[in-house]
Amino acid sequence: MPKPVVNKELCIGCGTCESLCPNVFQIKDGKSEVISEECGDCNCQEVAESCPVNAISVQ
Ligand code: SF4
Repeated sequence: MPKPVVNKELCIGCGTCESLCPNVFQIKDGKSEVISEECGDCNCQEVAESCPVNAISVQ
């Protein structure tokens, strides 16, 4: 299973990842946080490509 990781230093808290995958990403204190270790039904790769500052990587 792919695991998403957010680089908080790059994240600008735009909320795109949260709106696409609310089960995986949640904005806390202006930064995205991974709340589930696994993407599950969510296409994390697509979310990573949607991040405007490339702060999400999928491992
Ligand atoms: S899409 Fe990228 S910049 Fe926007 S909140 Fe998510 S990780 Fe942060």
